[in-house]
Amino acid sequence: MTGDLLSGVTAPSARVRVQLPLPLPEPYDYRVPGDMALVPGSYVEVPLGPRRLFGVVWADGDGQGERVEERKLRPVIRAIDLPPMPDITRRFVEWVAAYTMSPVGAVLRMAVSVSAALEDPRALTAYMRSDAAVPDDLRLTPARKRILEILSDGPPRLAADIAAEAGCGTGVVRGLADAGVLTTVPMLALPRFPQPDPEANPKTLSGAQRLAADDLAAKVSAGGYSATLLDGVTGSGKTEVYFEAVAAALRAGKQALVLLPEIALSAQWLDRFAQRFGVRPAEWHSEMAPPLRRHTWRAVAKGEARVVVGARSALFLPYPDLGLIVVDEEHEAAFKQEDGVIYHARDMAVARAHLGRFPIVLASATPSLETLVNAENGRYSRIDLPSRHGGASMPDVTLIDMRRKEQAPPARAWLSPVLREALAQTMLAGEQGMLFLNRRGYAPLTLCRSCGHRLQCPNCTAWLVEHRLTKRLQCHHCGYQAKSPDACPECEAEGSFVACGPGVERVAEEVATLFPDARIAMMTSDTLSGPQALRTVIEQVKDGAVDLLIGTQVMAKGHHFPMLTLVGVVDADLGLAGGDPRASERTFQLLHQVAGRAGREERPGRVMLQTYMPENPVMQALASHDRDSFLAVEADQRRQLEMPPFGRMAALIVSGEDEGLVDAAAAALGRAAPRDREDLTILGPAPAPLAVLRGRYRRRLLIKGPKSVSLQPILYDWLARVEVPASIRVQVDIDPYSF
Ligand code: ADP
Ligand code: ZN
Repeated sequence: MTGDLLSGVTAPSARVRVQLPLPLPEPYDYRVPGDMALVPGSYVEVPLGPRRLFGVVWADGDGQGERVEERKLRPVIRAIDLPPMPDITRRFVEWVAAYTMSPVGAVLRMAVSVSAALEDPRALTAYMRSDAAVPDDLRLTPARKRILEILSDGPPRLAADIAAEAGCGTGVVRGLADAGVLTTVPMLALPRFPQPDPEANPKTLSGAQRLAADDLAAKVSAGGYSATLLDGVTGSGKTEVYFEAVAAALRAGKQALVLLPEIALSAQWLDRFAQRFGVRPAEWHSEMAPPLRRHTWRAVAKGEARVVVGARSALFLPYPDLGLIVVDEEHEAAFKQEDGVIYHARDMAVARAHLGRFPIVLASATPSLETLVNAENGRYSRIDLPSRHGGASMPDVTLIDMRRKEQAPPARAWLSPVLREALAQTMLAGEQGMLFLNRRGYAPLTLCRSCGHRLQCPNCTAWLVEHRLTKRLQCHHCGYQAKSPDACPECEAEGSFVACGPGVERVAEEVATLFPDARIAMMTSDTLSGPQALRTVIEQVKDGAVDLLIGTQVMAKGHHFPMLTLVGVVDADLGLAGGDPRASERTFQLLHQVAGRAGREERPGRVMLQTYMPENPVMQALASHDRDSFLAVEADQRRQLEMPPFGRMAALIVSGEDEGLVDAAAAALGRAAPRDREDLTILGPAPAPLAVLRGRYRRRLLIKGPKSVSLQPILYDWLARVEVPASIRVQVDIDPYSF
């Protein structure tokens, strides 16, 4: 950092401790060259072995940690011209590391996910394959081959990104450009981040909305920590309400962050934001192209991006003056990150607001039990929006009892006569229908008619799912794909495989046969390749160019289709199987969201649930619109069992490629468990929910204790008592989502 050197400046030849974005628990010491001025939070480039890495000055080196001898210290290579990482961000990184029991550096990596180059991307050049043939005299080293492969199609990319993927230096990339095999192009046009205008286009709010918005706006302008549950039925106008909280943050000169479960699904959300505030917000998610990612990261760090909408990782951006977080659909499982640093973005967001002393708003039509309990015990305040905006009524929900003969669909069909009839009526009335089945592909199971052999994923405990659109069998857990075999690998019978059970593709086939003239659109992650494809389907539905929508959960959330009046759920029981105590809560939330798509404007909606267990409390609650009694029963059960949110829980997941070693390590952990403590319960080891995943065997141990106990120190002791081979991985999952 050049510029004014007055505050916190390090003396010539001082040392600094630099945290690297690697799974390291501790910062490393470096020497500061005499002409370099660094403060805590400065971004620097430092040597590590033969590599050069970006890191963050964590503290100045005096009196901390083990002192490396002065003459052995390597110097910081350079300071990067960026505002230092704010103190709050560094404290947040440390807090998350301690809570999730992850190395500080692993959490830091999420905060500086721009590792390869914190350079201003506008100054950089991108590389792509040229049309020229590879010259005969060019020696194709493995690294060069990898680069050519990486660039065989797709957009131009930065040298640093190509090199990182190919596992070589950027010199190799430049060398290929010199040889004429790659061409360079100027960086793509990057968005600017104009200020959203809080006065641009405010809506006239209803009375209930006004009260809610004023309450939130007052909290935002006053500053200080508070957590508020914004609890309102689907279509009650929660988004409009929290937009006013965002406006209040903008007026107060603060940045605002809106976390959404799946940013890819938010095309409509972005349009609404632009309508309200005049410009689009900055977006942050994992699918952004690296240059855009770096560009956005810098805009946030410099305070140029005032409103960020993002997936969970947006929480770790280095906001200089964040003053509000909104977590929309706070109950969503997508907020839980399940690999690397295992964390729940909603919970970490609450911690972030607490550290930063500003308000957080949790919005949902079906809040998680965790959040409802916090609202009940007064830790969160609560705002209710009990009815739909503009007087739209809640849809009428009926249960179709599939056990009854007259409801049975014809052979190898999945829609009952009443649902078929309702679909026909809906289309006749010029309205739209939606069929929901949370199962991608054609059939969930493929079975040999002669011997009963089922096709299983070679890497996972999962059946292969037939996809007719792509003509492949797929594993939905690891992405494994294969062609359908001509003969059964077990009994060698030819052409003997039959599809069992329905996936969305199969339901679409049935509907196409039933209603040959209907215009059908599919909404699944297989048919929607990106936000643009989703936007296209949404436009078609809104324009009335679609009669029937068929899809999985990507269709369930957030969308607002005025002409959609019928929602049919093909298999409402899906998701209730298995022993997970959270299954009921989760199924209720999902089906309630799906049901919420029906009848959002003047035309009343109806929802039909095909179920084999109509007496199940989930179905009853959906049919009677009685969420609160259902959740009260759920809460009672969990309270009795001291399950979250009434107790604490953590999981240890032991995994490795050698089943014997995994079992041995899990058993050793089981023997070393703190079984002497009466307030703790240890469960397992048992096969983890997916006992084999991506070729790794997985075992799980659960530990449960009362709310008053902090599990982390207990886990540290426990893990310290057991030595596991290097090939075995033990992951800690604090507050596991399924238990
Ligand atoms: P929720 O987020 O609770 O599901 P939304 O905020 O999406 O509800 O509102 C549902 C629909 O009603 C949207 O189309 C929205 O634009 C509209 N709406 C909500 N509040 C207002 C308002 N005050 N004035 C005009 N339209 C509104
Ligand atoms: Zn698999």
